Amino acid sequence: MPYNVSESLCPQNHRCPIIRVCPSEAIVQDGYGLPTVDKTKCTECGKCTRYCPTGAIHKTN
Ligand code: SF4
Repeated sequence: MPYNVSESLCPQNHRCPIIRVCPSEAIVQDGYGLPTVDKTKCTECGKCTRYCPTGAIHKTN
């Protein structure tokens, strides 16, 4: 998974606003749970890392 959502930084108490920011519909969230990045859809554009208000999304190595 090229991008990872940090469980400690994501409050998991609201609908992830990045779902609408991601141009590839790669952010998947079940209810208010921890979002995940669908690596089959992600184009690694980096928008999610810039727009997440808590800085919870990071590129992994
Ligand atoms: S890097 Fe771009 S395509 Fe991948 S999850 Fe983030 S916003 Fe979506």
